[in-house]
Amino acid sequence: MPRLVMKFGGTSVANVDRIRNVARHVAREVAAGYEVAVVVSAMSGKTNELVAFVKDANPLYDEAEYDAVVASGEQVTSGLLAIALRKDGIKARSWQGWQIPILTSDAHGSARIAEIDGSRLNGGFARGEVAVIAGFQGMHAESGRLTTLGRGGSDTSAVAIAAAIGAERCDIYTDVDGVYTTDPRVVPKAQRMERVTFEEMLEMASLGAKVLQVRSVELAMVHRVPTTVRSSFDPPDAARPGTLICDEDDIVEQQIITGIAFSKDEAQITLRNLKDSPGIAAAIFGPLADANINVDMIIQTVSGDQATTDMTFTVPTADYERARAILDAQSATIAFGQIEGATDVVKISAIGVGMRSHAGVAAKAFRALAQKGINIRAITTSEIKFSVLIDAAYTELAVRTLHSLYGLDQA
Ligand code: ASP
Ligand code: MG
Repeated sequence: MPRLVMKFGGTSVANVDRIRNVARHVAREVAAGYEVAVVVSAMSGKTNELVAFVKDANPLYDEAEYDAVVASGEQVTSGLLAIALRKDGIKARSWQGWQIPILTSDAHGSARIAEIDGSRLNGGFARGEVAVIAGFQGMHAESGRLTTLGRGGSDTSAVAIAAAIGAERCDIYTDVDGVYTTDPRVVPKAQRMERVTFEEMLEMASLGAKVLQVRSVELAMVHRVPTTVRSSFDPPDAARPGTLICDEDDIVEQQIITGIAFSKDEAQITLRNLKDSPGIAAAIFGPLADANINVDMIIQTVSGDQATTDMTFTVPTADYERARAILDAQSATIAFGQIEGATDVVKISAIGVGMRSHAGVAAKAFRALAQKGINIRAITTSEIKFSVLIDAAYTELAVRTLHSLYGLDQA
């Protein structure tokens, strides 16, 4: 029998009524002839509440005990869904991470899945049972302790289980009906995508599209698990297919640009009049890397005769003050003239695998932004995306301009 993984997020299991609704979605796929594994999140708001309890008990909490507490939300919903399914006459059994087991690293609070043993789940399928699996949690083999996979980790549980049991697809049910070409709150003409490639989705998730945990997209890409994002609020007997995340080969009409993402979580730092000598970049970025600060865009000005240069780069807003302090502390070795910074900036990115085979895609955007009087502070490009850093005040204008420039506006 073909296998399917269905994952339901917090709003989809927010109360017992919503859990009954989930049971009906599951019943539909069982009737269609699938062996089904369901992965559930905690009820919406539950994990936040549990995290707050932990911090209240002790701000300097033990991380293994944090996991013991916050993993409990998924234990509740997995049991409740199994009960709801049984009430509807569908054989079902709940599974905690340690029961399967889903083995992980010992990085409590953000553990990585190392291995999933599918044999117990296979036993359940052989008995005709739906497996209802608590998302977000696993176990570290040596210590036997419970672990969690980082916030939003149920997506990753679902994709990993799909790969482990050889599921035909992984359907991620949420409160939106798919992935959009950009944030519909900023561009009302944003469209739901029918299909998007793994690579594009990975860029979008990394750039802040919150619909899927980044790690889950990485796993789907590595294991080539076709994954959909769809709505549990559709009627169970008329559920729409949502957005399919798949291989490039499975997309017939590939657009050049498929989505526009933006992130306000960027800050700019500029070092002026640096002595231009070998090792200067290493002297700047080495200490930042040691402090775990992720540098994104980097621009170095070509030096003139004076043998000095300017270096501009971006860091996450949350690390801005720390980064400046580190650079100030290094001023003896780095020897810069001035340090300047800005936090009222935004990074806007256009993503599309079609950029690989088309020239001048970014140039078109630079022209369009110039025509609107928007100044570009920094640019980076990769094979399937380009990003510009601009003043945050122009966010909406720039996103809308690029969205229509690349033909993404809904007719
Ligand atoms: N309940 C966890 C969280 O809120 C995991 C998840 O929902 O994916 O982060
Ligand atoms: Mg989520």
